[in-house]
Amino acid sequence: MARKASNSRKAAVGKRGAAFPGLLEEMTVEEVRSFKPRVAVVALGSTEPHGPHLPYGTDTWQVTRLCRLGVEWANARGAKALLYPTLPITNNVNMKKFPFALRIGVRTLMTVLLDLATQVREDGVGKLVIVNGHGGNPGAIMAAQREMAGMEGMPFVCWASDLKPEDFKSPIEHGSDHAGESETSRMMWIRPDLVREHKFANNPLGTLKVKALRRAQFVRPWHLYMPQSAGGETRKSSAAKGKAVIEAEARGLADLLVELDKAKLDARFPYA
Ligand SMILES: [Zn+2]
Repeated sequence: MARKASNSRKAAVGKRGAAFPGLLEEMTVEEVRSFKPRVAVVALGSTEPHGPHLPYGTDTWQVTRLCRLGVEWANARGAKALLYPTLPITNNVNMKKFPFALRIGVRTLMTVLLDLATQVREDGVGKLVIVNGHGGNPGAIMAAQREMAGMEGMPFVCWASDLKPEDFKSPIEHGSDHAGESETSRMMWIRPDLVREHKFANNPLGTLKVKALRRAQFVRPWHLYMPQSAGGETRKSSAAKGKAVIEAEARGLADLLVELDKAKLDARFPYA
């Protein structure tokens, strides 16, 4: 009996390890060295209010699940993508009238991205993919990316917020900029225990006094645009819809990673 118990304990120890190769926060230094990654993947989340029904960590949960799936699928197809831990605090100035909408400055986020890209290169990887899960970040990502493009010794850097394949038919019936049917459905699939279904509603959106601003860009004060910190109809949300959307995005990420990984980083990259 004693021997049996010790054998089964050994078997359990042998099985321990990262959920899949390429998940940095679960790997050991020996595993990272022998993995020899060729593409680095950084996910940007956010910690901010998501209405009466979703938690502050919604963006972080979503982008983390999407990246874990996408990287796992890409690596199962032969890619060597290394997924970094998700950054949970990013740009949120337009949410500051709500409590604890956590934020770092625009220039701080740019500096973080520049530092991460520099280290990607120092660690011997030539390609960096930034996956953005929060609407406040594109300005800083694009400015940092443009700055990197003019610097020597930087990796190739690309970023995306929406990687769903073009032929994907979205099951989402009520679109929203924030905490609507799409985000609610995703959270019902990822962390149903954190979704307050009894708070589902059609959350109101502010209307523009200056109608012509529909065709111009401005930073929307979120407390005026979405007083509940959520906008639109959520009552048609479902875990099945959330799964379909996240898996479509993960397929898109996996396709991108597999193709990027295969392409030789020569003088004409990314052109043929
Ligand atoms: Zn969100």
